[in-house]
Amino acid sequence: MAISFEKARGLILDHVHPLEGEPVDLLELVGRVLTEDVRAPWDMPRWDNSEMDGFAVRAADCGPAARLSVEGFLPAGVSAESISVGSGTAVRIMTGAPIPVGCDAVVPIEETMADEGAVILRGKVTAGDYIRRRGGDIAAGEVMVPAGTLLRPAEVNLLASFAWLQALAHRRPEVAILSTGDELVSPGETVGPGQIIDSNAYSLAAAVREIGAIPRLLGIARDNRDSLGEKIGQGLQTDVLVTSAGASKGDLDLVGEALAAAGVEQLFWKVGMKPGGPTAFGLKEGKPVFSLPGNPVSSMIGFEQLVRPALLKMMGRAEVIRPYIKVTLKEALRNETDKVRFLRVWVEETVRGLEAVSAGDQNTGILSTMIRANGIAILPADRTLFAVGEQVNVQLLHPDHVPGSRQEV
Ligand code: AMP
Ligand code: MG
Repeated sequence: MAISFEKARGLILDHVHPLEGEPVDLLELVGRVLTEDVRAPWDMPRWDNSEMDGFAVRAADCGPAARLSVEGFLPAGVSAESISVGSGTAVRIMTGAPIPVGCDAVVPIEETMADEGAVILRGKVTAGDYIRRRGGDIAAGEVMVPAGTLLRPAEVNLLASFAWLQALAHRRPEVAILSTGDELVSPGETVGPGQIIDSNAYSLAAAVREIGAIPRLLGIARDNRDSLGEKIGQGLQTDVLVTSAGASKGDLDLVGEALAAAGVEQLFWKVGMKPGGPTAFGLKEGKPVFSLPGNPVSSMIGFEQLVRPALLKMMGRAEVIRPYIKVTLKEALRNETDKVRFLRVWVEETVRGLEAVSAGDQNTGILSTMIRANGIAILPADRTLFAVGEQVNVQLLHPDHVPGSRQEV
């Protein structure tokens, strides 16, 4: 009996856990998730400073059309300590420069007129105008980046601005990838009659790398116990083992047997999904092991739906499932099975919103439909016909590229 797709994904996510933290250099932190709260070691900004190019003044001196003599100049990057500001004077100040002692406002240059060593103010001035307060962005001791944050360039900027050169982030899993089958040869080897090039190892490695995890190619295991046993043993040295092929019902499909012999406890085998149905999941001393079907499309969809979320969780990510977005069907789609159906679709942005058509022949043997698709439509198991105009859930495979969407501002 197959387990439902939702149950399978849920079971997997219940059994995989974020990996421990390791020190990661600032330049390598983008895309990683922190395991520790990082607190600001000092105030940001570190001192009151000017928001504008203009004049630092004492608000009390600044009545209507006040004329202040200009004493001193404060470019960014200099200390204001040597400057003291008496009543009736102003200091020329640049953006970012510290506010000199005695001043309590900045008047932007646009609101002044020069007058022979003095300035005449055009408008009203209130204490605090155009001053960025010490600690006004982040106060010393405040958590500036909480544990669990996925680091983007903005967080990297913040860490850099506090000279935080290293932070603890979840380790990236090493994922062993094992292809199985007597018919397989590696790319570059001579391909004899009836032989097939092992392409799955490469698409799986690419998908692993795409999310920042580390693929380790184990090569090809043959359809016999010794060969499988040896490679599986190697694969179990890493954080995750992913095999492809050899897991359906054929006589030579020994992967399940070899995994059991290696001590992998099977949690399920066969999922109510198509493609990707003959997927198995097990644990060896807590390490996740996935066996995906051999068919290239099935292995890619099995990876996308079941393995990718697990790897993201191991990397500490909070959102592990690619978002489901509602897309309107421009042609009818059918799910003739009693399983969740993943259809390769083409999504376009139109004046009516996002619309989808089938990307082509949905037979799992057809790789080119995968290439033509930019999304996966998810049709639930309990319905057959999905009519034109109906909205279905789609996961976008290239969210940065949705044809027809406006790129200009
Ligand atoms: P199997 O699950 O072993 O019955 O394989 C199903 C289909 O996938 C067969 O047509 C295999 O030749 C093909 N296949 C298996 N492994 C690979 C692989 N590593 N790369 C490309 N095709 C594969
Ligand atoms: Mg096989």
